[in-house]
Amino acid sequence: MLIVKTIQEFMNAKSDLGRKDTLGFVPTMGYLHDGHIELVKRARKENKFVVASIFVNPTQFGENEDLSSYPRDFSRDKKLLEQHECDILFYPSAKEMYPSVQPMETFVVPGKTAERLEGQLRPGHFRGVTTIVSKLLNIVGPTTTYLGQKDGQQVAVIKKLVSDLNFSTKIVVVPTVREPDGLALSSRNTYLTSVQRKKAPYLYSSLLEAFSLYKKGETNTNILKESIIKHLKNDEEIRVDYISVADSNSLEELDIASKGSMISAAIWLGNTRLIDNIILD
Ligand code: AMP
Repeated sequence: MLIVKTIQEFMNAKSDLGRKDTLGFVPTMGYLHDGHIELVKRARKENKFVVASIFVNPTQFGENEDLSSYPRDFSRDKKLLEQHECDILFYPSAKEMYPSVQPMETFVVPGKTAERLEGQLRPGHFRGVTTIVSKLLNIVGPTTTYLGQKDGQQVAVIKKLVSDLNFSTKIVVVPTVREPDGLALSSRNTYLTSVQRKKAPYLYSSLLEAFSLYKKGETNTNILKESIIKHLKNDEEIRVDYISVADSNSLEELDIASKGSMISAAIWLGNTRLIDNIILD
């Protein structure tokens, strides 16, 4: 696996690719787990070349968020990507992506899809995401970009970005990879204390409870949301940021749930924020 730290080096490496070779791209912030690896495996299966990126993007973190403490383990990430036959790892510095000399003036501002849920609670977050994803797509030029359903709103925002700004990549969404107890894998799970770790699966089980009501015929979203709140209230350490039943593309809140709606929630367990979602089928 080639490790490339500058945009120029990446361009040079890419010039070896044939014009018709397919390139699968997996953008990440590192501290890789089986969720990320699932995206790499899928990219490996479907493309001649696989590129992964590791970049903890400062512009998508709010002022009081965990940019400086975000977990990092480059040598482990490198080994994992090598094991899964990634061809190129793009690992730029913050200065490479956001030069301090002639600093960037142009940013990508997403619309309504990004203003709800995560966007409402984390102002500027998706502007950071759409800006860095646009830069990475321009540098990497992938045939297909692999994203995780774990970040359901991010999927919707990036799909809209790609269609609005005519990026030529296809988007493939990979189902959420979970621990045996249902907790969605996340680099941030490492922040949880052992007691909090035991409580963390309540998030997914609360979504499953709403899902099972829906399967029994309940489509009133207030009732579905109430069942989630009731479930989460069983533990007093859990603080709810939001519970939502929304259209999975526009993220518009719904009164009536139907096939394709996304039930999502964000909670705090101590200082750790967890998000998860289920798409109704
Ligand atoms: P991150 O490093 O958290 O920015 O995630 C990089 C990519 O991996 C994003 O497309 C995430 O949605 C995806 N991802 C993160 N966790 C999971 C998971 N548990 N299952 C599937 N995909 C995931």
